[in-house]
Amino acid sequence: MLNSKLKTPNSKLSMKHVPLRTCVACGGKKPQGELLRVVSRGGDVPQLDSTGRAPGRGAYLCAGAVCVEKAWTRRALERALKLKAPAPAALKEQILAAIEK
Ligand SMILES: [Zn+2]
Repeated sequence: MLNSKLKTPNSKLSMKHVPLRTCVACGGKKPQGELLRVVSRGGDVPQLDSTGRAPGRGAYLCAGAVCVEKAWTRRALERALKLKAPAPAALKEQILAAIEK
């Protein structure tokens, strides 16, 4: 007998939606709260966005030194934020300092 009971409940739809963001260094997807956001407001000087909601183009990085180093080695931030100049070393220091906190 075919009837509407064939429809199985989709548990995924009832789960709380957690927006995932992709780390530009390792490509891993994580909840936004577990990633660091770097924002560029059109210039070539990206900044660490400690609030996570600053306006501008944002790029996400895992809150770990490995991904930060990888991002600089691969110029991942420059690509993600379409920067014409290399991301400043001062920003890297700032991010590493924020992670160690
Ligand atoms: Zn990562």
